[in-house]
Amino acid sequence: SQMALAVDAFGQGKTLAMPGSAGVEIDRLAASFRHMADQIDERTAALRRNSELLHKTIASIGDAVLVIDRDGHVVFTNPACRALFGDRADIGSEDWQRTHLRFRMDGVTPLPSAESPIGRAFAGDSFDAQELILRRVGETKDNHIIASGRPIRDAGGNFDGAVIVYRDVTEARETERQLRQAQKLEAIGQLTGGVAHDFNNILTVIIGTASVLEDQAADRPALADGLKRIDRAAMRGADLTHNLLAVARRQPLRPRKVDINALVKDASTLLRSTLGEDVDIRTSLEADAAAVTIDPSQLTTALLNLALNARDAMPGGGKLTMETGNVVLDEAYAHANADVVPGAYVLVAVSDTGQGMSPELVERVFEPFFTTKEAGKGTGLGLSMVYGFIKQSRGHIKIYSEPGHGTTIKMYLPTTGDTTEAAVDEPAAPTAAARRATILVVEDDALVRHTVVQQLQSMGYAVVVATNGPQAMALVEQGTAFDLLFTDVILPGGMNGPTLAQAVQRLRPGVPVLYTSGYTENAIVHQGRLDPGVHLLQKPYRKTDLARALRAALDGAPA
Ligand code: ADP
Ligand code: MG
Repeated sequence: SQMALAVDAFGQGKTLAMPGSAGVEIDRLAASFRHMADQIDERTAALRRNSELLHKTIASIGDAVLVIDRDGHVVFTNPACRALFGDRADIGSEDWQRTHLRFRMDGVTPLPSAESPIGRAFAGDSFDAQELILRRVGETKDNHIIASGRPIRDAGGNFDGAVIVYRDVTEARETERQLRQAQKLEAIGQLTGGVAHDFNNILTVIIGTASVLEDQAADRPALADGLKRIDRAAMRGADLTHNLLAVARRQPLRPRKVDINALVKDASTLLRSTLGEDVDIRTSLEADAAAVTIDPSQLTTALLNLALNARDAMPGGGKLTMETGNVVLDEAYAHANADVVPGAYVLVAVSDTGQGMSPELVERVFEPFFTTKEAGKGTGLGLSMVYGFIKQSRGHIKIYSEPGHGTTIKMYLPTTGDTTEAAVDEPAAPTAAARRATILVVEDDALVRHTVVQQLQSMGYAVVVATNGPQAMALVEQGTAFDLLFTDVILPGGMNGPTLAQAVQRLRPGVPVLYTSGYTENAIVHQGRLDPGVHLLQKPYRKTDLARALRAALDGAPA
């Protein structure tokens, strides 16, 4: 009877308390029973450990795991699954589908229930890499999901349920998108820069020839008129190529330490008269905004461009706000925005209460020549120039916009830029009159060379020419006399402008150098900044620009 009690208790899950001594047979029975009970305990514990491990593993993986039974009822979800689909037992049900909308990859075509991962898994399908968009009602951001499913079969091979695993790739896809976008703009920039470079040479010839002919047309008014028109048109071309260089991140910048608040205040004053009465301009300035090293005139141009867009977006008037602030873009932000280096920035934001932009529009507005404005009203270069300038200045730009509500464009300017080359003075006004001097011209483009020589001679300079660096060096080594080296920055023949200048100055210490370029590369513009002390004449240029630059260089005026 003691044994009967002990076995009953064991059956109810209590510990097994076998009688101590009850005769040989009973004792043996009790011993083997105890042995059996110990083994069961051990195996149960091992099973529990295994199941706990499995449970913890599934709970800790980032993918959402959902298990349904043969009737389609949810029997298991892990935390990632509950985070994605809600903590509920009816995932996949009609009720659930009212708050969790599923779409095809276009984000607009609803996904029929039978084609959803749950629908397919329920039908016994085995599948991988099914992509879909999940939109949860009340949330702004869609989730981009990749799902796979496997049926579970019982011993007889019958459908007994299914496992579905969902991976949320929203963030990865967003990073990919940003990278693609950045690469696209980079490629457009390259192309634009190349075109601008060649076009500048052509314009240099046109403008130069026109200004040489102008002297000869003094007593022929019709010809003089025509030449003026050529000059005006070519100068418009020059403006365009200059803008294209900004887009291509290849305009020479003159950064200096800038009081950002003062600059924004000045810009807002300037804008009051430009934008008219209907636009209410406000500023909100951070009292102790950090100083940034940036090209102030280009930043003013950027603000102007943004303000003009804001005005166009508010045909009936509205509010334009310009803000400054100190911000830190952290690792997390840098992670979400592919082009950002984490660190301290000064934020300059321009907001309007205008018509706003759709996400599809935002995606394209940094592309050069992209405009939604009617012909003649928009050039499509405004935002792409701002983008190019900010990128060249190692900053970051971001658009926040909602159709019908307005737009904020945030420019983040790095505060950490080195300030040693900050104070670059504007070229001083020429002091001495043109004097008879000999200029060594090094230019590889024959047409441009011819034009420059004509221009220089018409100003009374004597000219020596070379088409590349080695040729110029040969002249120098022969002892050819000259007072100034006028060279293109980019030259064929293995020596670029700066290396040639160095070699020349080794043999003729102190000889002044004037560079010219349509397209300034790192040779002269380090990371988009002009080296201090460098005289650079941007192509294309008029005769008067050339005269001024020569005088400044000959007189040793600071660059
Ligand atoms: P443009 O002004 O010549 O059209 P931009 O590069 O300055 O060229 O702007 C490109 C396009 O971006 C505009 O045509 C407009 O559709 C859109 N856009 C720019 N700024 C705004 C804004 N503040 N609000 C609404 N749309 C804007
Ligand atoms: Mg514009």
